[in-house]
Amino acid sequence: MSADAFLSTWAALTKELTELIDAALDVEPPGGLPDSWAARLKSLGVAPLGEDARIAAIKEHQQTRGAPLPEVSACLANFTMLAKKQLEPLRKTLTAEQARAMEDGVHRFTDQALGHYRAKATEKKKGMFGAAKALAAQHQYGKGLNATAYVLGCSACHAPRLADELSCAFCGGSLEVVS
Ligand SMILES: [Zn+2]
Repeated sequence: MSADAFLSTWAALTKELTELIDAALDVEPPGGLPDSWAARLKSLGVAPLGEDARIAAIKEHQQTRGAPLPEVSACLANFTMLAKKQLEPLRKTLTAEQARAMEDGVHRFTDQALGHYRAKATEKKKGMFGAAKALAAQHQYGKGLNATAYVLGCSACHAPRLADELSCAFCGGSLEVVS
């Protein structure tokens, strides 16, 4: 058995995760509930916060943009649950070491993505130029190597990896220390 099915599922999940974070950051005005975001909440089984709670959350977390942090946190929790369900049947195609990298990677989905979201959603407002640049950069996560930024993946095959590993458990490539 090979890990190919796992790797393609992993790549799809990583892409979905980056799209989720991008969509949350795109919510305007901060704490708003545009139809596109409401639809995404529904698809992940998350009930939107009430109007007052949205405003309170934006204030509490000092957000300058995006959907309320607790809402995004709930989305990530449900996303991780769904990801686990999709990945579980593929576990039998993995070696013990690969399975450990998978579990570790899935945990990072929630922690790292939320940390990234918090940082982006609380950034101080930039001037027009800076804002345009930030907007351009923000949409690059779904493409190329940046897609694995949330999960510290292998740069060759994009598989999840354990932080202390020297070679990739999936493709055998060497993993350089990321600073
Ligand atoms: Zn690899």
